[in-house]
Amino acid sequence: STGLMNGKRGLIMGLANDKSIAWGIAKACADQGAELAFSYQGDALKKRVAPLAEQLGSDIVEPCDVSDQASIDSLFSTLEEKWGKLDFIVHAIGFSDKTELRGRYIDTSPENFRMTMDISVYSFTAVAKRAAAIMPDGGSMLTLTYYGAEQVMPHYNVMGVAKAALEASVRYMAEDLGKDGIRVNSISAGPIKTLAASGIGDFRYILKWNELNSPLRRNVTIQDVGNSALYLLSDLGSGVTGETHHVDAGYHVVGMKAVDAPDI
Ligand code: NAD
Repeated sequence: STGLMNGKRGLIMGLANDKSIAWGIAKACADQGAELAFSYQGDALKKRVAPLAEQLGSDIVEPCDVSDQASIDSLFSTLEEKWGKLDFIVHAIGFSDKTELRGRYIDTSPENFRMTMDISVYSFTAVAKRAAAIMPDGGSMLTLTYYGAEQVMPHYNVMGVAKAALEASVRYMAEDLGKDGIRVNSISAGPIKTLAASGIGDFRYILKWNELNSPLRRNVTIQDVGNSALYLLSDLGSGVTGETHHVDAGYHVVGMKAVDAPDI
């Protein structure tokens, strides 16, 4: 270990199991010497998250449902009590009613639109505000987004609209917090088979399409995302803020793939 994260303390939000993107990021940070705290959504997840946290030497494992402002407050008062200050946060949280992650975007219900925006967009803003208050020496904040924010992807629907708003919020917060030495970025990850992704219609097809059409001709892993997160969360990324960094095997640069067999 080169100890890129030695002496840094960070909060990881959005760990559900060992397939979670949050797990890939947490492991990469812990491997480089970071001290971590974890938040989990509800009691049902505690029994999964606590042993994973323990594997990385963390004993701060706190509940936080981001749809409840009081729950976010209580998480941050615990962190302030235990650590005093914070160096980084990872927000790996998104949610939408899966019955609307298929079919047409235009059929989104107002209730699910509001809930999706609240949990998948506003929660990062709400968390960032509280985290910034305990980052006197500056810090780094990271969220997760997807290419469905930029281009129309099958079944992504209201989540694509939410990710576009999330990316815009990253840019606004980069400006708000930059003068305090706090950087705010997102990683736009290629499709990865996780619990959240399994709610998206035809997800297996999307994985296969990305594997066949991305420049690297493969899908990305949570380790790939963890490695890039390390750059943005550590001092290696010291000049980078407001950015949407694609970790997608290059998929987003392809307009039309070259024909590998030229006899189409
Ligand atoms: P995951 O299911 O492992 O993680 C999603 C997490 O969101 C879970 O831990 C869940 O508990 C949490 N969550 C949902 N509602 C919450 C709430 N109200 N309060 C607190 N936590 C809540 O899936 P993942 O794929 O690792 O998702 C992490 C992030 O990565 C999400 O923002 C997702 O949109 C994004 N992302 C995923 C992919 C992919 O293909 N898997 C691609 C790009 C971006």
